[in-house]
Amino acid sequence: MSARIIDGKAIADRVRAQVRADADAFIARTGVTPGLIVLIVGENPASQVYVRNKRKACLDLGWYSEIRAFPAEVSQSEVEAQIEALNADPRVHGILLQLPLPRHMDEQALLERIRPEKDVDGFHPVNVGKLSLGLPAPIPCTPLGIQRLLTEEGIETRGRLAVVIGRSNIVGKPVAQLLLRKGAGGDATVCVAHSRTADLPGLVRQADIVVAAMGQPEFVKGAWIKPGATVIDVGINRISDPSAPKGSRLVGDVEFAAAREVAGAITPVPGGVGPMTIAMLMHNTLECARRLSGDSA
Ligand code: NAD
Repeated sequence: MSARIIDGKAIADRVRAQVRADADAFIARTGVTPGLIVLIVGENPASQVYVRNKRKACLDLGWYSEIRAFPAEVSQSEVEAQIEALNADPRVHGILLQLPLPRHMDEQALLERIRPEKDVDGFHPVNVGKLSLGLPAPIPCTPLGIQRLLTEEGIETRGRLAVVIGRSNIVGKPVAQLLLRKGAGGDATVCVAHSRTADLPGLVRQADIVVAAMGQPEFVKGAWIKPGATVIDVGINRISDPSAPKGSRLVGDVEFAAAREVAGAITPVPGGVGPMTIAMLMHNTLECARRLSGDSA
């Protein structure tokens, strides 16, 4: 039987509607409009699309948002000075540094400059630590979106074996932390696989939930999936395909056509995890605005 396709776009639309309602009530209560600044360095075309979409999502909600763009050769100290100014600016509740940065820049040092209360991506070491301690803090958007997909779809995580493939700080590690946390969308038994893992197929065969975040087109084979398992495909890979309109198309890290024949539920690429990321960024920006304003309603 073919798997249920998890419609990330529809779920993201619902999340955004909820964020809009919560934000409107927050603005009415406090008079504070949430504000997000996105910093971008260099000319990476994919990053340019992402930052425009992030700003647009804020403007659609009636929030304050600006893109601060720097040339690739900008100095580390100039970007640091900008972050310090934004840390002190009361109109700004979220500061997002679009990654990747040009090679000459020290990414970690810049992320650590962002005031943790304004770190909407949840990449500051203080927020990474809070996530692992189960304390309230901004949580990285893509992992939070993945957990939300699971809870919105009614997929039980408690007591289940979740295999996360990929150990990046942006996706793999925070997803694993979330699935491990106590409570709804957590309580899973989590195993994190990576490029040095022995017998990945054997491991995936045991998983009730597979989160593939490795950045390798269609690497996870349908034959590895346990019948009825839930498959969350985080990968976004462009592969050439002469029959596609642009000569290329997007695929995930999972061999979708084969996996959907075995899985119980599966996310498509595009239209699965992707739309959730910006929805959760809006959620995080509102949460930061609420915490910075001392709003407890
Ligand atoms: P990354 O390159 O930082 O990390 C990839 C991880 O996969 C590494 O930990 C590596 O050990 C592991 N890996 C690589 N090859 C492997 C193999 N053969 N077997 C097992 N593990 C292997 O990537 P990332 O930033 O975590 O992103 C992963 C994918 O998710 C990419 O395709 C990226 O484009 C996508 N992504 C999507 C969204 C979204 O919004 N949908 C957001 C972030 C990243």
